[in-house]
Amino acid sequence: MDGAIPPASSCHGGRETMIAAAKAAGKSDVLARLATDYPQGPHDQPQSMCPAFGSLRVGLRMRRVATILSGSACCVYGLTFTSHFYGARRSVGYVPFDSETLVTGQLFEDIRKAVRETARPDDYDAVVIINLCVPTASGVPLDLLPKQIDGVRIIGIDVPGFGVPTHAEAKDVLAGAMLKYARLEAERGAVARPRAPMAEGPKISLIGELFPGDPPGLSAMLAPMGVSLAPGLPAREWRDLYGALDCTAAAAVHPFYTATIREFAAAGRNIVGSAPVGLDGTAQWLEMVGHATNATAAATDAAKAKALPAIKTALDDNQISARMIVSGYEGSELLVARLLIEAGADIPYVGTALPRTDWSAADCDWLEARGTHVQFRAALEQDIAALHDVKPDLAFGTTPLVQAAKEAGMPAVYFTNMVSARPLFGAAGAAALPAIVKAQTAGASRFSRMLEFFEGGAAC
Ligand code: SF4
Repeated sequence: MDGAIPPASSCHGGRETMIAAAKAAGKSDVLARLATDYPQGPHDQPQSMCPAFGSLRVGLRMRRVATILSGSACCVYGLTFTSHFYGARRSVGYVPFDSETLVTGQLFEDIRKAVRETARPDDYDAVVIINLCVPTASGVPLDLLPKQIDGVRIIGIDVPGFGVPTHAEAKDVLAGAMLKYARLEAERGAVARPRAPMAEGPKISLIGELFPGDPPGLSAMLAPMGVSLAPGLPAREWRDLYGALDCTAAAAVHPFYTATIREFAAAGRNIVGSAPVGLDGTAQWLEMVGHATNATAAATDAAKAKALPAIKTALDDNQISARMIVSGYEGSELLVARLLIEAGADIPYVGTALPRTDWSAADCDWLEARGTHVQFRAALEQDIAALHDVKPDLAFGTTPLVQAAKEAGMPAVYFTNMVSARPLFGAAGAAALPAIVKAQTAGASRFSRMLEFFEGGAAC
């Protein structure tokens, strides 16, 4: 290990130093894999929360999985705070270090001890240990940890801010590592069944953290095709990973899960991109699912005949007239924009912090064909420039974009809290999302009144 990285190094500086140190410390392969899976530029530095939060969240949401962080105390404090803010209600393990334990290699010994003490088979199926920036840059070799202890799987991952651009992609780092472990277990022999019984016949596994009402809605949508849902990813329990792998096709409704998709492909599963949003998106998605699951044309037509009229009615009943921009770091921004355009919105700009992938290509094409500029790896500066250029009736965006919009007297809502907390698919989505737009644009005059009220006021 290289001791050149001070424990207080942070995401706000020293990126090149951290990368050089990580390479010198033997992490070149890890950085190369991250650079391939999560291509960078122009936004290659965290502009939102620490990316490792994505991995931490995936670990904390799983039953019988312990999650331990190895990183600077300030980073761990922020990550722990954020996880509890989002209702984790679970302990976050932490292996502290100082310059001496980092330089001498004692930190790795401390991690090994913590993992060994935590890996109690009565309590856990797996222990996840996450290297944050400094331990990654210092080459702490998590790959040298035992692969299992008393049957408890040990999953060590590097999730540095200088290698994983967004917390969304960090979800994939852990979800993909777990799916790979489970795939190799399943290839070696019999594995546990998922707790919930799985139907016979073709199955789809949904990839992405979805609004809880969306999977049941999709299940009903797929029923006429004889297709059911396998457990989705990120999983809520280790044995669900086997159930997910038992699907016929994986649906990358969140299109940035590159490592997870790679594991599904390695297991011989078909992959379907895009998602059932609005009329066009739903018709296209059902056809792709039908193709991927070998459903008959009649079965696919039956599913469309059942789903599409309800979506049309919902769209007709919830037409909107608003000029908007949509931006965020959730990975569903293109889908949201598609749906809103079908509901009547004019959306000249969509920004997403996520990269372009094969699985969002159909959505990007659809939007661009309607004159929308789609900015992948959008930087906050690009989103704000679009805000001032478009002057929308309403912006969906990240916290700093919403702040910029409100300072300019424009209505704006936070994507994560408002949009991701609503159904997106099928008729439910077609009713829910336009309703947000209607409610927010109806109160637009409040913003200009606020601007007038505060105009000329001294900053505090
Ligand atoms: S671990 Fe997260 S908070 Fe800490 S330096 Fe890296 S990106 Fe920043």
